[in-house]
Amino acid sequence: MLELNDTIAVALSGGKDSVALLRILWKLERRYPPARLVALTVDEGISGYRTEAISISREVCNALNIDHVVVSFDDLFGVTMDEIASKPSELRPCSYCGVLRRKALNGGALSVGATKLATAHNLDDEAQTVLLNVMHGDVERILRASSAPVKTEARFVPRIKPLAEVPERETTLYAYATGTRFQSQPCPYGHEAMRSDIRIMLNRLELKHPGVKHTICRSVERLSESFQETSTARVFRACSVCGDPTPNNECEACKMLKTLKASSRTNSESVSVHAVRSR
Ligand code: SF4
Ligand code: ZN
Repeated sequence: MLELNDTIAVALSGGKDSVALLRILWKLERRYPPARLVALTVDEGISGYRTEAISISREVCNALNIDHVVVSFDDLFGVTMDEIASKPSELRPCSYCGVLRRKALNGGALSVGATKLATAHNLDDEAQTVLLNVMHGDVERILRASSAPVKTEARFVPRIKPLAEVPERETTLYAYATGTRFQSQPCPYGHEAMRSDIRIMLNRLELKHPGVKHTICRSVERLSESFQETSTARVFRACSVCGDPTPNNECEACKMLKTLKASSRTNSESVSVHAVRSR
């Protein structure tokens, strides 16, 4: 996953997994002087929730003497998650948040000159995502699930997931065993309902059939590899608007931002029509 002289941007949310990942990479990095670590926190603009996460992230970085950069939705996209969540939409807040956060992390990693972007997805996250994609019938995403490096001309920092084979129970144990403070407050917008159902189902299955989460992830990895020659699912080009990688002409984030802008225009027009009428 890593080269000896990598500049590694670590996505640090302040949760147990990302704090554990930062600590582990910090221990490793000290053995390789040409390597460099930078922690990257995304402030989605969720009042109350992110304030605690940012203060924990800052505390961890100060203790480990790691540079810490915060990138915010408000600065990058001119909109916060609180504002997005307050608009009527068919999509859940998490759908916007996931896409925009990916874009913010890529941009943040590029701005600090990172050569790798490490995220703290653990085995449970990965197995849940596989089943979620199956249940949504999203074949493209299933075929994209390989950990093989993505080749693209787009503005892109390659991603690595060092904890992808580590069960969540172990990252939790690591956080407690090292006395790490991490964010415990849940996000007010919650997680996708289907993901929660899949989490419960997978945990029950894993108890009865140990190893099932690993098997699910390995199966999809092998499936993706065997389709690599014939499928275009892993062909990424530069988005025609922002230059970030996308399998389409325009990336998901740019499409979402366009829809959000159009809906705020419609809202402000209806507010001004209402104001004229009231006069
Ligand atoms: Fe974003 Fe949803 Fe996570 Fe909240 S729960 S931080 S809205 S992805
Ligand atoms: Zn774009």
